[in-house]
Amino acid sequence: MRSPQASSPRMSRPFPAFLLILSAAAALHPQALAIGEQASRTTVIKAGRLFDSEKGAFLDNQYITVQNGRVVGVEASMKDPKGANIIDLGKYTVLPGLIDCHTHLLFLEKIGRQGSGLSSESVAALVFEGDALRALHGAARAKTFLEAGITTVQDLGNGGQFADVALRDAIEDGSVDGSRMRVSGPGLSAEGGQLPGLLYRHLPLANDEYRIVRGVDDAVAAVREHLVMGVDVIKVYADSAPNVARLSVAEMAAIVKEAHRYGLRVSAHAVSDTSVRDAALAGVDSVEHAYSLSDETIQLLKEKNIFVVPTLLSSDSLARYVELSGEVDKDVIKKQLQSMHERNRDVLQRLMKNGIAIASGSDEYLDLNMPQGQSAKRVLYAYAECGMGVLDILRTTSINAAKQLRLENKVGVIKTGSFADIIAVEGSLEKDIRVLDNIRFVMKGGKVYVDSSAGR
Ligand SMILES: [Zn+2]
Repeated sequence: MRSPQASSPRMSRPFPAFLLILSAAAALHPQALAIGEQASRTTVIKAGRLFDSEKGAFLDNQYITVQNGRVVGVEASMKDPKGANIIDLGKYTVLPGLIDCHTHLLFLEKIGRQGSGLSSESVAALVFEGDALRALHGAARAKTFLEAGITTVQDLGNGGQFADVALRDAIEDGSVDGSRMRVSGPGLSAEGGQLPGLLYRHLPLANDEYRIVRGVDDAVAAVREHLVMGVDVIKVYADSAPNVARLSVAEMAAIVKEAHRYGLRVSAHAVSDTSVRDAALAGVDSVEHAYSLSDETIQLLKEKNIFVVPTLLSSDSLARYVELSGEVDKDVIKKQLQSMHERNRDVLQRLMKNGIAIASGSDEYLDLNMPQGQSAKRVLYAYAECGMGVLDILRTTSINAAKQLRLENKVGVIKTGSFADIIAVEGSLEKDIRVLDNIRFVMKGGKVYVDSSAGR
């Protein structure tokens, strides 16, 4: 949350060769795929425009061949399709399925309710909701992400006691429709987690949502627990804002060292310049949020090749937040929002100028009264408002994000060997990033989940 690697063996499982042969033999009749149909036969997608994330450019009239959930070719002309299913997206811009590197599918904060706020909503989730119901709610939210064109997410904590692992597995075994998930389990945090204000006798409640770390030895133990519970990534809190206690550099360094032994990447919640610096010194792989950054800390991030995931709110999300919160003094709010925007713009500009790798992450956990997947995409609109160009924005949510998740060549790209995670939008992306709202087609792993393209 805001006031805050290894490739998954499941994702890298090779496809059995005998199934490839069987499905090639089954390619008999030319026919478009219906929604929900698995592309076990050969499918050819005609793309009017195609975003090539490796080149950072748009290409005209490309043909993508899909077999058994994977892309097997991208060409400028259609070879003899031999009875393949043809999907005509000639009127649209086709992109790799979007990637969101920072979600909380099992947590949603209501805005404006009396007593609401990060801490009390988290306590309510623990005390009144519970892991099973949270996972079911998470499943519904995961579907909104998929339908919004976000085919991969990295879910970074606030999922109870490994309920995020359960949701990931249910999506993967096909029980639930949702984005591919990489999950962290409970974030590793200093005393209290992100639950400020608990009475002393209720402090242990934080253990239900976070893995409270007390010392270097305990830090190593926490990583091992998470490893055996099947996480894909370790989330650590360099600060636990809005709470005050912080892990030491030594504790985080021990976490990083132990995680890297198993090829697990470490993502650090770090809001302030001090906590970003601590996380960088400890050797984490990414810092999340990073709302305040000195030039020295940016140099440190650069030297250590650390990704930054700026979780920014777009102007329309901020306006919606204010509206729902029932705040009345509009002038004061306007001033606050303006200074927040200027701060975000300044940080993002300096990150870009210094060539820091940026991956997109929505930190979507606010209930803005709209499908969560839809509001999650607005982080990309926030980047545009801070002066980032369309091609750079698309790279933050494709190839950069794939690198950050260590899923390079599998997601965030449409090329031979990648997953067939393919979306299409209507309108000119080059002119306006917000046409990402106009999703017309979503395929994940060769299966069609959304198809509102004309005539289909
Ligand atoms: Zn977060």
